[in-house]
Amino acid sequence: MSLDDLPLRDELRGEVPYGAPQLDVPVQLNVNENPYAPSETVVAAMAAAVADAARSLNRYPDREALALRADLASYLNGDGASGLSAANVWAANGSNEVMQQLLLAFGGPGRVALSFAPTYSMYPEYARDTHTTWVAGRRGDDFSIDLDVARAAIAEHQPSVIFLASPNNPTGTALPLDHIEALLQAAPGVVIVDEAYAEFRRDGTPSALTLLPQHPRLVVTRTMSKAFALAGGRLGYLAASSAVVDAVRIVRLPYHLSAVSQAVARVALAHCDELLAAVGELRAERDRTVAWLQDQGHQTAESDANFVLFGKFPDRHAVWQGLLDRGVLIRETGPDGWLRVSIGTPEEMAAFKAALTEVLA
Ligand code: PMP
Repeated sequence: MSLDDLPLRDELRGEVPYGAPQLDVPVQLNVNENPYAPSETVVAAMAAAVADAARSLNRYPDREALALRADLASYLNGDGASGLSAANVWAANGSNEVMQQLLLAFGGPGRVALSFAPTYSMYPEYARDTHTTWVAGRRGDDFSIDLDVARAAIAEHQPSVIFLASPNNPTGTALPLDHIEALLQAAPGVVIVDEAYAEFRRDGTPSALTLLPQHPRLVVTRTMSKAFALAGGRLGYLAASSAVVDAVRIVRLPYHLSAVSQAVARVALAHCDELLAAVGELRAERDRTVAWLQDQGHQTAESDANFVLFGKFPDRHAVWQGLLDRGVLIRETGPDGWLRVSIGTPEEMAAFKAALTEVLA
């Protein structure tokens, strides 16, 4: 039997599962992971917490994940938010699941989700899967969002959901807070500011968390996959008014977040100082990578994230393949001619630079 014999939804015919190539090469700089694995101290604490959780795995987990949500709220209160409690925070299996839940609650047939491309390529997939109409406005040549263009798109499409990635993937561009506030004023529905990469922002770049008290329709999503080096743990979350959290609780599956995931994430949060210590190093390595790429005569997008978009190449696929042939995997994504490299260890970045120099020689 093939897919064609199944009653697959018409809009899913011909679609392929989303995902970057998972190749076993020495230098993996393609999915914006944190290159530093947890220390043995953290590993031991996680193992103990998992053993503890295992003793009651015959029972369902805390459906509301209240202890974890309280820990996440206090973490955010130390990173720009104020007065958040568990009632303002929701967690799921990666911020991907959080955003899908947001569209289940606020999107749907006859409704529009709006964003500004180039941006994170999963947004249209959440829209497709929830029968929400997807509309992508354009970013400018410097990947910023022009407020007049954005306001016109909002007026025309009346989106119930707007996605604003800041820092944006794949460009790294952060949005100024006054732009986010202006779009909140114009928006008839919820505005999701996807801050998956927020911890990597440069000094002086604020977080939209600071806007939460004045804006009950603002949702800020975060993840432990990047700065917290917990991509394998699958833990994403949001901060918003408690009404938004209540809406998402209606559509979540019961017991969606396993007891093991909750336990591991709580250990990571308890060791947040240690896990986030590498973030400063990664930010410095990012700035050095940008400077090096520019020295080599490449264009780079402004980056507040743990990756850099650079180009432009007449045949970007050839450059990507040349790097891969030399054991360096980066991402062929973004507008035509551009490539994206995640920031790894100094050794990995040296391998990337050497390989790129060779490929372009
Ligand atoms: N938002 C953006 C902008 C991303 O780049 C990613 C991961 N690539 C995510 C959300 C989702 O991350 P996760 O599901 O691991 O939290």
